Amino acid sequence: MKISRIRVFRADLPMIEGSYSWSTQSHAGFDTTVVLVDTDEGLTGVGECCPLGPTYLPAYAHGVRAGIAQLAPHLINEDPTQLDRINSLMDAQLKGHPYVKSAIDMACWDILGKVADLPVYVLLGGKLQEKVTLYKVVSRADPNAMAERIPEYRNQGFRQFQVKVGEDPSTDIIRIHRVAEKMEAGEVLNADANTGWKQHEALQVAHAIADIGKQTGIRVTFEQPCLSYHECLAVRQHTDLPFVLDECMDSISALLQAQHDHAMDMINLKISRFGGITRARQVRDLCVSLGLPMNVEDSWGGEITTAAIAHLAHSTPPEFQFQSSAFHEYSTTQIATGAPSVQDGAMVVSNASGLGVEPIVDALEAVAEFN
Ligand code: MG
Repeated sequence: MKISRIRVFRADLPMIEGSYSWSTQSHAGFDTTVVLVDTDEGLTGVGECCPLGPTYLPAYAHGVRAGIAQLAPHLINEDPTQLDRINSLMDAQLKGHPYVKSAIDMACWDILGKVADLPVYVLLGGKLQEKVTLYKVVSRADPNAMAERIPEYRNQGFRQFQVKVGEDPSTDIIRIHRVAEKMEAGEVLNADANTGWKQHEALQVAHAIADIGKQTGIRVTFEQPCLSYHECLAVRQHTDLPFVLDECMDSISALLQAQHDHAMDMINLKISRFGGITRARQVRDLCVSLGLPMNVEDSWGGEITTAAIAHLAHSTPPEFQFQSSAFHEYSTTQIATGAPSVQDGAMVVSNASGLGVEPIVDALEAVAEFN
């Protein structure tokens, strides 16, 4: 089987709630890239990469498409089912830029699943859990407005909340306390600063919220308070809050260093940050071997990204998959059918072969084609 054509599309994913705010950033929606990989045997694979705007990670929407234009001519006539070979070819043609490679890798997994007539989760190890626990993002806003979201989201079935902070630390302390007042014992309050605090600010917040869990039974966790790994490590050494590393976990060597330093209790595994399902699976398997739970997810995306997340999460042992995200639920735009179903704070992927999603081409804007 050979790749005969690579088509690139884009779409806007506006936020249902009007905006998404975290740390000091706020966006009304996100620019996603969809890749269709066609083969000489008539099968087509689909992949997606959606950076969270241009200033969240070193990734941006135009960069996805510029990078794919760089790579695509070198992939024509290659066998898409040979995933390690495809990834080696991409690495040989473009150093770094893992997010650029993610949508292509994802589309090749979709093709491999269709060739095997198996859902991708089987190829990733099998269905180790029947449903995938989700978190719900509580976008940064006024403290009371954030707190009011909790009963609304609980009514939708969510018990795990990613509370966006990382702005002014004094206001953030109020945000976390107000949200906690609306929460119940056993629920998860993940205070995610998305790199927004200076080291001393993070310590101020960590100390101010240290007793919430002890008094209420709420499961409080503390995620990526500062920009650099070393700042995060310093904060970690002065708090006993369960600690999550996200943005700085961008390579296997970074993960191993952090594991050696006892720098976290959990990591956030974003598929595109590691370059696709192939590399994310390596990280996932390594985390399981190291005894390290994960949030299995991506930066952002629509139905296609959510399906990829779901396949990786379904094939992860439940005790190591802390939570995931169904990003398509946050957008007003549908770009594919067959997305994982979401109910009671969990998602279930389809049993169709491949990723199980079909792009809605009419909802997409054609950008480029390579053959
Ligand atoms: Mg995070």
